[in-house]
Amino acid sequence: MQPLERHIRNRIRQEGPLTVASYMAEALMHPQYGYYRSGNPIGAKGDFITSPEVSQVFGELLGLSLAVCWMDQGCPDKICLIEAGPGRGTLLTDLVRATRGVAGFHQAFERRIHLIEANPDLRRQQAKQLSGREPVWIDNIREAPELPLFLVANEFLDCLPVHVFKRTDGGWQERFVTAHRSGLTFTHGKPAPGSPTPEPDTGIDDIPPGSTVEVSPSMQEFAETVGYHISRNGGGAILVDYGDWGLVGSSLQAVRNHRKSDPLADPGGTDLTAHVDFRALARSAGRHAQVSGMVPQGILLERLGITARARILARGLASDAFQSHMAAHRRLVHPDAMGALFKAICIVPKGAPFPPGFSE
Ligand code: SAH
Repeated sequence: MQPLERHIRNRIRQEGPLTVASYMAEALMHPQYGYYRSGNPIGAKGDFITSPEVSQVFGELLGLSLAVCWMDQGCPDKICLIEAGPGRGTLLTDLVRATRGVAGFHQAFERRIHLIEANPDLRRQQAKQLSGREPVWIDNIREAPELPLFLVANEFLDCLPVHVFKRTDGGWQERFVTAHRSGLTFTHGKPAPGSPTPEPDTGIDDIPPGSTVEVSPSMQEFAETVGYHISRNGGGAILVDYGDWGLVGSSLQAVRNHRKSDPLADPGGTDLTAHVDFRALARSAGRHAQVSGMVPQGILLERLGITARARILARGLASDAFQSHMAAHRRLVHPDAMGALFKAICIVPKGAPFPPGFSE
């Protein structure tokens, strides 16, 4: 048995079944054995591929949108540029390269780039990618300096733990993880003390018995902190992830080696994610700041000019390179690929214009 499973079983023995959120926190963030504490999960050789790894255009376009957001707010001369969950550092590299020509933008973050990253192996890769810059790693958004905050995050929020609830005729039941002789298994029971209540998060009064909903207090706290920071100091945040508006249903999934797997089979060895409820995100950030409408990734990238950019990059490519370039473009925007499942949202101060690609 893997040491992390042993540790989880011990906790269950002592405390009783764990909420799905506690289980996810252990499986992903256990200081020694958590999935996001070592190794490199991203890329063809890893467990999954992300949009910035599909094409450089993704980071370029988000970067330019963020730079326009900075210009719209009067080009503040000192800002905090930050990425939450930067993975291999690819998005940031593309963002920095694409915004070189935006007069004053780079001077405003003074070569310093803040990164929220839990994984020391990925921190090393990010340092390599960002050589010539001054990366500053922080563990939590609350540690961001009191400056206008320009933040980008792709596939970060889906890693944050969720509580899972099921509606029954007798009220809400929470899903727990418990142990049996040969492994871990799900069970249901009365919501744990301190668990969030699902109703206000779903925004749907009439959830039929048998339905499942997921609630992520960590995601909401992140969104609220970003909203608060931006309302105090100015800035803009572009958040991209897979999910939808007011989710009903179970989306918790495990992915290993580009395939779906059993979320309880190998804690620490598989990625666990849940779709992001953008409605809950918008409500949390909207307590302080202004939040755009949610836009599908494909539409956002089209609005930002992905086709024109892809045409320019396609010039002079030989046939194999051209084919893979076209396939990457399709993968990012097509509704059958990442274009519809992934959504984006933007947070700006109340009264500030939304950056290109976003609207109310
Ligand atoms: N944005 C990158 C990587 C996405 S994978 C891309 O699009 O390619 C998720 C990233 O978030 C990884 O870098 C992971 O190590 C980091 N991460 C996940 N949960 C985290 C947490 N709670 N605190 C800090 N970093 C976290």
